[in-house]
Amino acid sequence: LVSRKWKVNPSVVDLGDGVEIKQGNFTLMAGPCSIETEQQVEKTIAHLVANNVRVMRGGVFKPRSSPYSFRGLGIEGLKMFYAKCREHGIKIITEVMQVSQIAPMYDFTDIFQVGARNTQNFNLLDELGKVDKPVLIKRGISGTIDELLYSAEYVFSGGNEKLILCERGIRTYETASRNTLDLNAVPILKDKTHLPVIVDPSHGIGIRDYIEPMALAAVMAGADGIIYEIHEKPEEAASDGAQTLNFGESERLVKKLLTTYELR
Ligand code: PEP
Ligand code: MN
Repeated sequence: LVSRKWKVNPSVVDLGDGVEIKQGNFTLMAGPCSIETEQQVEKTIAHLVANNVRVMRGGVFKPRSSPYSFRGLGIEGLKMFYAKCREHGIKIITEVMQVSQIAPMYDFTDIFQVGARNTQNFNLLDELGKVDKPVLIKRGISGTIDELLYSAEYVFSGGNEKLILCERGIRTYETASRNTLDLNAVPILKDKTHLPVIVDPSHGIGIRDYIEPMALAAVMAGADGIIYEIHEKPEEAASDGAQTLNFGESERLVKKLLTTYELR
């Protein structure tokens, strides 16, 4: 069902208020890896509004490699995050880690993010297939392109057609970067599926200085949008600071992305 053989025309994921994720639009999503404080959310929103970015990312349920790392503010943090964004017309995307979180999160999220560690959590995908809200599925850490498409198929065949795919880098033998951003996936996915495809250069390369070139490369590869991490003071971020842009860097990136998109 997610194949172009079944549906030729590109799918549109409509978030309302004029925010549409689709081929022909270039959607920017930015925000911290983790939601930390109300003040952080307010400052991030001010930055996004000033740069005309309509979707804010931020995790409240964080999949951390170590159980001792910051694991997120949970549902109360999500309520605060959602309420602040609503005040300013910003849509939110946030990670859902397990089935039991879907119901409590439902009223406080615009896009459910399925993280790379959960791409093949088929029970979660089945449940998200029953939900009437957009879902973004990240590529698995060691997942193939076809496996990502099958994960999307779980949600789509369950009845939820509001789907977005995200290339976020895969684990390879290379150690110079956190992951290997597989930009090959972009034209291949765009050819195989009618779903919108976006790229996450933050997790893809994992190194702040290289986010910009990889984001620009993703535009030229044909991505329908970019999701990336920002923080007022990346060095103080509760998670993923090393791959997080500050507001100045983010502003420059937005300008370059939009000019690059015009050239495509
Ligand atoms: C994230 O978006 O912060 C995240 C944990 O991403 P991924 O699932 O791609 O690792
Ligand atoms: Mn992160």
